[in-house]
Amino acid sequence: MRALLLYPLFPQSFWSFEKTLALVDCKALLPPLGLITVASIFPKEWEYKLVDRNVRSVTDAEWEWAELVIISGMIVQKTDMIAGIQEAQAHGLPVAVGGPYATSLPDEVAMAEYLILDEGEITIPLFVEAFNQGAKQGVFRSEEKAAVTETPIPRYDLLELDAYDNMSVQFSRGCPFQCEFCDIIVLYGRKPRTKEPKQIIAELEFIYNLGWRGGVFMVDDNFIGNKRNVKILLKELRVWMKEKDYPFSFDTEASVDLANDPELMELMVDCSFKKVFLGIETPDEASLALTQKYQNTRDPLTESVDKITRTGLQVMAGFIIGFDNEKSGAGDRIVQFVEQTGIPMAMFSMLQALPNTALWHRLEKEGRLLNQGANINQTTLMNFVPTRPIEEIAREYVNGFWALYDPARFLDRTYRYYLKLGAPKHSSKRSIDFKTLKALLTICWRQGIVRSTRWKFWYNIIRIFLRSPSLVPLYFVSCANIEHFTEYRQIVRDKINAQLAAYLATKKEPEEAVVTV
Ligand code: SF4
Repeated sequence: MRALLLYPLFPQSFWSFEKTLALVDCKALLPPLGLITVASIFPKEWEYKLVDRNVRSVTDAEWEWAELVIISGMIVQKTDMIAGIQEAQAHGLPVAVGGPYATSLPDEVAMAEYLILDEGEITIPLFVEAFNQGAKQGVFRSEEKAAVTETPIPRYDLLELDAYDNMSVQFSRGCPFQCEFCDIIVLYGRKPRTKEPKQIIAELEFIYNLGWRGGVFMVDDNFIGNKRNVKILLKELRVWMKEKDYPFSFDTEASVDLANDPELMELMVDCSFKKVFLGIETPDEASLALTQKYQNTRDPLTESVDKITRTGLQVMAGFIIGFDNEKSGAGDRIVQFVEQTGIPMAMFSMLQALPNTALWHRLEKEGRLLNQGANINQTTLMNFVPTRPIEEIAREYVNGFWALYDPARFLDRTYRYYLKLGAPKHSSKRSIDFKTLKALLTICWRQGIVRSTRWKFWYNIIRIFLRSPSLVPLYFVSCANIEHFTEYRQIVRDKINAQLAAYLATKKEPEEAVVTV
């Protein structure tokens, strides 16, 4: 059997980084880890080709070669996922779909011949058995959660490695917390399941032998969900990293209680973890309690961010506006929090109700869900009726996003933050090749000569160089990121403005339809 694995396009988003990736000739931030994991579970005697549509299109020869098309993606990829199913079927090919989007909303992809839902380790063998017996269609589901200790090494060898800025590895699935809006606990459960350290080392050895050096994103939604097991992993990883002379640097996501575990933070730094994404959501305690994010209310959030930063881990954070009973000015309070802590990369979104979450069920009961079936992403209006006027929330969101990524403000915030962070314990082993040099020169040209913030750019670089030269590469990475954010904040403003105008027009209040900044 010849199977074509297809990964759908992402829309432009906070994480898409087109402008930044173009600087280093990369096409996507991360590879499709789910699909290459799936490829390792399907029969070994089948042949596979993988096309990531974020990297390139499927060629005519690939469509002709394929006998089966397998598509997996997330909810934000739904438009291209549906287009991919239709295109494959137009080529006369049967299609199997899976992954978080298909699992959450199977009715929306029911046109595919096979729906392989929930966890592939359990449902792929069910599909293969039925397929081998001649089944022409079917839905394969299981409520059982897979023991990830059995998951094989993903087929990293199917990837066009040069297209990606980072590799990805998964250590655990699930999270012990119960945030009302979160679909991770719906999809993967509240009991974190972890791989064995030897599995992770084998995966890293595999990508090392393929020649990968540089960034590796530990994709776990909460890397520290099982602190005991993560410490066992890190103790072994520390030895491996040292033996290999630190070929990788790691980024990941974690809950804020990381700040209360100095041993864990030190271990992460020892293993060359550089950045950690925290779901801070909001500095408003009432909203945190309402959304059942109690772990964020136990200690002052600014102190937690500072503790993590001073250990040597750079904090990235997610913020949300639009919680029930939120008071006016939530957007400004988030901007103030980001400025106070100095967090360079702050992802800011309006709250959305994701399918099957506790929030979704509550709103459904209250009759407040809107536009079911519509796209949900950072540039769409909220998909439910909030408790304060949507125009007020949207205005605070747009204004907040605009302020967070004002180039001068961003450069200053980043500068302050890196001085607090201090020099990295293990420097990047990525050599300065032609691509990196070209990126550096492009940034210097655009930000150091063309833009009005040129004086700030050079002033900050010189001050960082004088105080801690090893921080200069980090500062350049942030300068590369602002290339994306200045474009993206305009997209946020334009798209939200347009939807708000259309919404207000239906309320016959067109004079209020434009968000002013
Ligand atoms: S801490 Fe993060 S992953 Fe865990 S339930 Fe909350 S939002 Fe979900």
